[in-house]
This record gives sequence, structure tokens and C-alpha cells, in this order.
Amino acid sequence: MATRIALIGVGKIAQDQHLPVIAKTPRFELAGLVSQRGITQPGVPTFATAAEMYEKLPDVDAVAICTPPPARYRIAKEALAAGKHVMLEKPPTATLSELADLTLDAETRGLVLFTTWHSQYNRAVAIARKHLATSRVEGLDIVWKEDVRRWHPGQEWIWQPGGFGVFDPGINALSIVSYILPAPIFVESAILSVPANKAAPIAAQLTFKPADGLPADLKADFDWRQDGEQTWDITTRLADGRIVKLSRGGARLEIDGQLMAEEPPAEYEAIYEHFSVLLARRQSDVDVAPLRLVADAFLVGKQLSCEPFT
Ligand code: NAP
Repeated sequence: MATRIALIGVGKIAQDQHLPVIAKTPRFELAGLVSQRGITQPGVPTFATAAEMYEKLPDVDAVAICTPPPARYRIAKEALAAGKHVMLEKPPTATLSELADLTLDAETRGLVLFTTWHSQYNRAVAIARKHLATSRVEGLDIVWKEDVRRWHPGQEWIWQPGGFGVFDPGINALSIVSYILPAPIFVESAILSVPANKAAPIAAQLTFKPADGLPADLKADFDWRQDGEQTWDITTRLADGRIVKLSRGGARLEIDGQLMAEEPPAEYEAIYEHFSVLLARRQSDVDVAPLRLVADAFLVGKQLSCEPFT
């Protein structure tokens, strides 16, 4: 029987990905929407609040929460209290403590909590992970540069405290890196450039240190001011000399310049497939590592004021 799922927050990602993917996935049935603006879908009821939906549609099994991160904790707590399984868009929460509490809450109630990190759901990323599994990484160069106007049109929340700024896309790169690297890395330094009229960074340069303390050159460059072609590249240099390069946000893999994989993204199809497996097993999947790296960048980072952004 299909899982009856409801979407909470029907903004860009809900409309670009969640709605079309649910529509073509037989294991899920869209039961309802919760939308402050009253966004509708044919044949599906829309509610102003989740509480109203839980009262009117008690047979909803699961919710996918697609709001901005600061709103998510309260909404997820309410969903768990109502006995619903929960899928969280990335970044899962605004803080680490909120995610720890949700994890414990879901476990106590025997419900599934799933932190989606969409960039991990690429075949090229899975292949890269296998190649790195037994290697030592001597170099890491993350270049994640995109045009905020193109990807976040009119979104003011991304510039607020808790909105993550350039770490909203940057955390996608970190979700790939924390997934493919054979050992953890830690943020060593960060320079966060914050526009004078905003509360969140528009650019960030990070350096990392490896857990083993051996020499390594590990860095990331995030920038939201890139016009024209967008750059989402992660290049790793292994101790045996191999160069493993993921590009196009994890959709393309080259090793020593040779193409190993390139596929059109089907990240959300894979996310819903994985969620259905987790639901069948009644098993949570909570990956905290990318959020932890971002939190650490804010902890050790030096903030610099830069040009106002309009
Ligand atoms: P968005 O277009 O601003 O949509 C978020 C929606 O959540 C709003 O349209 C609103 O929908 C609802 N909402 C806003 N504030 C709320 C609040 N305080 N309480 C409850 N609901 C609220 O943002 P988005 O681009 O879809 O991003 C949402 C999340 O998805 C972010 O964490 C982002 O990182 C992630 N994501 C985005 C993309 C992308 O390409 N944009 C890609 C992957 C992941 P209603 O009026 O319908 O309630």
C-alpha cells in the first residue's frame, strides 16, 4: 500500500522536485499540503496549518518538511507528536541541538526521521566514494560558485540568521565530501564575507585538517556572486597520485581526466526510493556531518563585512 505523504511548505523545491517525484512514485500518494500562502494541487486538500491537517486527515503516514530551516524543528516536533514519519529537506534544522532532539524523539516514538542530502544521491558520487574508500586524501579543492539571484529568487530567509547564506548551497558540497571521504575532516579556518546589509555570508573560504594529522591541502571556496556558468566541482588528490573530480554538483565523475560517470540528476527519485526503504524497515537515517561542518565554520570563522547586496 502506498505511503500517504503530506508536504509542508510548498515553495521552490517542493514544486520543482517533491510534487513531480511523488506524482510518479507509486509507493507514495500525496495526501495533503500545508501552505501558508494556500498553494493548491488538483484533488489534494490544502491546509493553513499542520495541526488542522492532522485533525482532518488522521491517516497521513508521513510528512516532507520543505520550509526554510529555522521553522523546521517546531514543525517536525509536532509531526512526530502526531505519530507521523518525517522527511527533512536539507539543511535539516537551524542548529545541531534541534537535530539531536528530533533524532531522540523519533527513536523514542519508533518513527522514521530522514535527513535528505540531495547531492549524495548521484551515481557518480557513489562511484567516487568507492574509489576513495581505501585511499589517503592529500588534496581537496571544493569550488562551489553560483548565482544567488538565479537559484533563490526573492527569498529573503536565506539572508536572515539561521538562513545559512552561501552555506545553503555550500552544505551540498559538504554533504558529498563527508559522504565520500574515507576519514573525517575538520574545519581549521573560515573567512565569511557578509554583505553590510545582510546577516548571512555571501561567500566563504574554508580550510580543513584531516583527522590523522598528516600533511594535506584541503580547502573550499563558496561564492554566491557567480554570473554565467555555474561551478560545482570537488577535486580530490589521492596519495597514489590519482585525481578524482566530481563536477556538475556530483552528476559527473572523472578520474585522471577519464570520464567514469555522467547522468542526468535523479536525486529526488532516489531520495523517495530510500525513504520508502526506511519506512519499510522502520529505520531512521540521520546524517549530521554536513551540518556539523557548517556549524564549525561559523564557530571558528572570521566574519568580514563586504559590499551590500541588493
Ligand atoms: P522557498 O521557495 O522560500 O520555499 C519555502 C516555503 O516554505 C515557502 O514558500 C512557504 O511555503 C514555506 N514557509 C516559509 N516560511 C515559513 C515558516 N516560517 N513556517 C512555515 N512555512 C514557511 O524555499 P526553497 O528554495 O523551496 O527552499 C526550502 C528548503 O529546501 C531550503 O532548506 C533549501 O535549502 C532546500 N532546497 C532548495 C533547493 C532550491 O533549488 N531552491 C534545492 C534543494 C533543497 P507556503 O507558503 O506554501 O507555506
